[in-house]
This record gives sequence, structure tokens and C-alpha cells, in this order.
Amino acid sequence: MPYYHVLIVGAGHAGAQVAVALRQRGFEGTIAIVGDEPEPPYERPPLSKDYLSGDKSFERILIRPVEFWSQKKIDLVLGVKVVRVNPKESTVVLDNGKALGFGRLIWATGGTARKLSCAGHDLANVHYIRTRADVDHLSRALAGASKVVVIGGGYIGLEAAAVLRKHGKNVVLVEAMDRVLARVAGEDLSRFYEKEHREHGVDVRLGTLVDGIEGRDGHVTGVRLADGEVLPADLAVVGIGIIPAVQPLVDAGAKVGNGVEVDEFCRTTLPDIFAIGDCAAHSNRYARGASIRLECVQNANDQAATVAKFITGTQEHYDAVPWFWSNQYDLKLQTVGLSTGFDDTVIRGDVAEREFSVIYLHEGKVIALDCVNATRDYVQGKSLIGKNIAGHAAALADRTVPLKDLAKAI
Ligand SMILES: Cc1cc2nc3c(=O)[nH]c(=O)nc-3n(C[C@H](O)[C@H](O)[C@H](O)COP(=O)(O)OP(=O)(O)OC[C@H]3O[C@@H](n4cnc5c(N)ncnc54)[C@H](O)[C@@H]3O)c2cc1C
Repeated sequence: MPYYHVLIVGAGHAGAQVAVALRQRGFEGTIAIVGDEPEPPYERPPLSKDYLSGDKSFERILIRPVEFWSQKKIDLVLGVKVVRVNPKESTVVLDNGKALGFGRLIWATGGTARKLSCAGHDLANVHYIRTRADVDHLSRALAGASKVVVIGGGYIGLEAAAVLRKHGKNVVLVEAMDRVLARVAGEDLSRFYEKEHREHGVDVRLGTLVDGIEGRDGHVTGVRLADGEVLPADLAVVGIGIIPAVQPLVDAGAKVGNGVEVDEFCRTTLPDIFAIGDCAAHSNRYARGASIRLECVQNANDQAATVAKFITGTQEHYDAVPWFWSNQYDLKLQTVGLSTGFDDTVIRGDVAEREFSVIYLHEGKVIALDCVNATRDYVQGKSLIGKNIAGHAAALADRTVPLKDLAKAI
């Protein structure tokens, strides 16, 4: 049975970065990455942006050139899935029946797109955007489609809607909540993006539930809403979140809630088994200690760094400030911090000019910024996170006062 000093499960952002970081830190042991997708590690964010729009080729979204992995002596074991973890024997079993032994196991499996469960969910032309294969499949289907219903007004649904409009499709976006981005942003940002999408021709339906997908000959013909209206559709694109891919760890006895629970070094409750990235539930200082999973590149990269340090003898807690971005039309949103639980906001800049930041406060302290076409605020605003702005609210709203000066003054 092949044995690796470090065995990484999941060839996505977190899995790739932990292997890269281990080599950068001089780790000389054997490393393998097992991934169930056939491709070497690639960036997922462009899937709903430049890759879907056709502006970036697949080669341009690879995390490292193909030859990098063999040059660094990192074995890629692709197109196979880990189906069982045996913590006592320190082995994993693959879906082809083979087993691999490990010294340390790093679970970096991300999640699978949450699927619709309503009638018609299994019709052809109900699409998801999680993998390269998903997007290639969607792109082929789009060639013959003119009417698209996007289900879900989170980042992925909104980004997809923007690209679909660019392709000239008729787009209806259906969101169950009374605003888009309800899970991740405050109302100011939601209303801004709703208006933008409407102005770009998207029919945004809020507070609207999908009752079922209608079809003929196995293909989508429409999306039926709870009030009985049927939206005609050639295809549906669904973006309703992910489910962490953790079943083998559950079966192995790891503590799992909303994701695999990890400590400040990303260790699971099983010996020598770490978890990082979208699948890892951790106590996050920027969520005031709550146990959360973050679904972003920052978290995947920074948790990867934490584990690489730990394995190479440096114990540093995971404590990074979360950040994220989203591109829709000509709007570049950059966020820093976590706005969950905010009790006040300050708008900095001009919403009508499409260049502004929403600054989120909790008990007088800055907890997050959502910056739209305002990169300087995003870069400088990081140093404001955690600061009490009592007496400075007017300066915070004033774009002529650089946030870095304000951060120094507070
Ligand atoms: C369309 C889209 C747009 C996004 N946009 C942004 C953005 O703008 N900014 C941002 O910060 N983040 C964005 N994200 C989120 C970001 O891509 C994720 O946070 C990041 O990819 C997480 O990395 P990960 O390694 O944890 O998981 P993933 O990148 O999902 O990698 C996990 C890999 O493990 C594989 N796997 C799962 N189970 C097994 C198993 N049992 N055996 C073997 N392999 C397995 C999966 O198939 C996958 O290949 C976006 C995500 C998507 C899907």
C-alpha cells in the first residue's frame, strides 16, 4: 500500500495551497493530493465570472502550471474519491478499492452544490456551478437557450445572471428571501445590486418560492412558482449554497456539525487529521467566536498556511481577517471582515455614482466593509476592523478622509 507523510484529500484551493506551502517551508516528506475531479487544481471563482463568460481559458485558471506538481514532487491522484477514512490504521480507501496510508491527513474537500428537491429537479438543463465540468456542461447548453431562470440570489446566482445578460439571454432571477445577498450583506448592498441587475435587464423576483421545474421530453420548459405562475425557461441555473463534503469523516467518528469541527490549528477531533477550507467549521474571531464555515479563497489559503506551519513546527493560530470579492457587470465588490450581527451601518461615498462602501458596525466598532468600485477603501479599511469609531462617524462617511488616516487617528 502506498504511504505518504502528508496525504491531502481534495484538489481544490485549500488542498493545492497546503501542498504548495509545505514545500515552500522546506517540507521534504512525501505528499499526495487525491481529488475526485479529473483536472489538476484550478481556481473556482472564475467559474461564475470569466470562465463562464468565455473571457478566460481553463489553462489560465489553473492554480499552478501542470508541470509544477511533478517538479515539486507532489503526487496528484486525480479522478478518484476517498470513500473511507480509518483513523486507527491511518489509511484511506478510494472508490476504486485501493488504499493509501498516511502520516498526516488533510481533509480539504470543499462542498457539493446543494441540489433542488422539488418536482422536476432531475430534468436535463437544470444546472449548477461548482466545478469546471458543471460550467462546460452549462456553456454547451446555453448555446441553444434564450430564456434562463436563475434560482438563488446569492453571489453565484448574481454573477451568473450578469454573465448571462452579457450573452444576451433573457434572465429571470428568483430569490426566496425578500432581498438578494440576504445571508452575507446588509440591505443597502442588496438594494443596490437588485437595482443594478434590473437596470441590466434581469427580472429580479424577490420573496418568490420555486414550486417545481416543468419539462417536456426530459428537458426544462419552465419554472413553476409557488403562486402558480410558470416562468418559461430553456434552462435553469441553481445557486442555493453548498453542503460540506464530510461523510467519510463523519463515519470515521470526527466531530461534525455544519462542517468538520476544527481547533485553532485546523485539527479535527481525530488524531493527525486536519480539515481546511469550505468544509471546516472553526471558531472565528471576526464572527465574535462563533463556529462558522467560510466559503472563500482567503479562508482556504490561510487555513492551508496554518496547517503547513503546524506540520513544519510553527504553531500559529488561524486568525486571519476574512476577505472576499465578486464581479458583476462593471462592478467590483470587495469585502473585508464579516458583517454578520451588525447593528449599524455608515455609507461612505456615493451609491448613485456606483462608487461607495458600506461600513458595518457592532456596538460602535467596525466589523466589516463592503466596497463597491472602491478599492482604496477596501485596502485601507482592513486596519479599521475592530476599532471603535465613537465620535468619528462623520469622518468615516467622508471620502476625502482616507481610511488609513482615520485608523491612525482612532
Ligand atoms: C462559482 C464560484 C464562484 C466563487 N467565487 C468566489 C469569489 O469570488 N471569491 C472567493 O473568495 N471565493 C469564491 N468562491 C469560493 C471558493 O472557490 C471556495 O471557497 C474555495 O474553492 C474553497 O476551496 P476548498 O479547497 O475548500 O474547496 P474546493 O475548491 O471546492 O475543492 C475541494 C475539492 O475536493 C474534491 N472532493 C470532495 N470530496 C472528495 C473526496 N471524498 N475525495 C476526493 N476529492 C474530493 C472536490 O470535488 C473539489 O475538487 C466561489 C466558488 C464558486 C463555486
